Amino acid sequence: MSTDTGAGVLVVMEQRGGEWNRMSFETLAAAQQLAGELGATASAAVLGQGISGLAGELASKKVEKVYAVEHELLKDYTPDAYTAALRQLIAQAKPAVVLFPHTYQVRDFLPKLATALDRVAVSDVVSHRVENGQVVLVRQLFQGKVNADVRWAGDGPNFASLQAGAYRADQLADGSAPVENFSPQLTAAEIRTKPLDLFRESQRAVDLGAAEIIVSVGRGIKEADNIPLVQQLADALGAELAASRPICDAGWLPMERQVGSSGQTVAPKMYLAIGISGAIQHLVGMKGSRTVVAINKDPNAPIFEIADYGIVGDLFQIIPELIDAVQKTK
Ligand SMILES: Cc1cc2nc3c(=O)[nH]c(=O)nc-3n(C[C@H](O)[C@H](O)[C@H](O)COP(=O)(O)OP(=O)(O)OC[C@H]3O[C@@H](n4cnc5c(N)ncnc54)[C@H](O)[C@@H]3O)c2cc1C
Repeated sequence: MSTDTGAGVLVVMEQRGGEWNRMSFETLAAAQQLAGELGATASAAVLGQGISGLAGELASKKVEKVYAVEHELLKDYTPDAYTAALRQLIAQAKPAVVLFPHTYQVRDFLPKLATALDRVAVSDVVSHRVENGQVVLVRQLFQGKVNADVRWAGDGPNFASLQAGAYRADQLADGSAPVENFSPQLTAAEIRTKPLDLFRESQRAVDLGAAEIIVSVGRGIKEADNIPLVQQLADALGAELAASRPICDAGWLPMERQVGSSGQTVAPKMYLAIGISGAIQHLVGMKGSRTVVAINKDPNAPIFEIADYGIVGDLFQIIPELIDAVQKTK
């Protein structure tokens, strides 16, 4: 059960249509940290077509090397092309550890990639430590009630995907790195899926993971007719609107806005929990937020245990005053 610490940590960044997935930078920060602890180096890879600009951006971070994995068959994501390209890159770069952000796309191809190399992928990691040169990864079980230590077995490459908000992108160290162009051998015949346009549903879908401020509403809002009140606050703050599960189950807001164990995991700079009690299934989805503000009429609501700022009171009195106050600052 050893990790070859000499061979470095590789991060596979995620982009779509030239736009970064913000979680990639959290993963890069984690890689810099882990590489430092292992006395190894961190490198970063970006896959796609026409990605030299993105690779150039990465080159300003503290990494040993940036791999620009460029091919026309990587223009749109397919699990076959990504797996084939990454297998070839890994064979050349020989990383001990390969880290990914725990995105939907990564969930789609990482098990295939790891299995193809006869390795396991440890998914949704929330933290790590290094003990006697060995990496110990922490994953949550039973809706976040238990933290489990996981160790990779065998030599690298060892794979892990990191949970949104588990690491801080603002702790990324800058530097200057060379960009190496890597052209994988790919043929159209080996790609079994044909990418079409994204679902209309998904095109409209909100990316709560990318939001800097989230106003999240719970059952304290009482009825669907009151949702515009929190929407007004979200608009005033330039925030995305999110909700606890009962609000989405009732159809008051779409499912894609649900935060929690069966919804999205978010880590904004500020998370306002309004009329949300703080059930564990909700907390696991937002506890990585930088600052949590809770408004609840019950002083014993569990949400206050993790809140940085708490307002005990009736949201129907507090929200209009907050909206007024925010608008006055503009
Ligand atoms: C398998 C499973 C998966 C789940 N997944 C999720 C998930 O992904 N996300 C999720 O959120 N939940 C999830 N749940 C549900 C979770 O257990 C809770 O039931 C849910 O989070 C509670 O939502 P809530 O806080 O909005 O409602 P409640 O627990 O009913 O809390 C409402 C809060 O509003 C406060 N309040 C009421 N009136 C006012 C007022 N006028 N002003 C201020 N405060 C007021 C109350 O004091 C209370 O604290 C899951 C449950 C299970 C079993």
